[in-house]
Amino acid sequence: MEDRLDRVRSLIRDVPDFPKPGILFKDITPMLGDAAAFAVVLDVLAERYASQGVKKILGVEARGFIFGAALAVRMGVGFVPARKPAKLPWRTDRVTYALEYGSDSIEIHKGSFAPGERVLVVDDVIATGGTAVAAVELARLQGAEVVGAAFVIELSFLDGRAKLPPGLDVFSVLRF
Ligand code: AMP
Repeated sequence: MEDRLDRVRSLIRDVPDFPKPGILFKDITPMLGDAAAFAVVLDVLAERYASQGVKKILGVEARGFIFGAALAVRMGVGFVPARKPAKLPWRTDRVTYALEYGSDSIEIHKGSFAPGERVLVVDDVIATGGTAVAAVELARLQGAEVVGAAFVIELSFLDGRAKLPPGLDVFSVLRF
């Protein structure tokens, strides 16, 4: 498995100064374009959560949709999209979180989760952790039981996992 993950790692492209100066952007598109590498990522995630009673995956716009939706199909569970404000057509619940400058919000449709429903939060990258914290909060707002938060890439030097609620299981396929 380590060999296969080395290959996945080699297909993550570093793009300096995108979308703004000082950010080293982790571009997943070379990995997505490689059928075997994309499948390895899904295998790792599906195996890790196979016996945890997950009933739904909450994926965060936009790259969280790619992995979250594919993983949901692989695991035979439902998928819920968390979107930027004013994208979802029906009634929503919203959580607002702080950014370096200003704030951002994500929404899910009301009634996305049944009380006690076991949910896994999925996104491509955990950086500062703000987005993931908001996603966990949204699921809990609707009474879901969040079994964990899973990422393809963790930017360890930013220590985003420390922001997530104490006791929550946090997992990343690759750490940089
Ligand atoms: P954060 O809320 O700081 O943890 O940021 C996480 C969100 O921003 C994720 O949805 C990522 O897609 C995106 N993101 C943040 N930093 C990067 C980065 N260096 N490369 C790629 N995506 C990033």
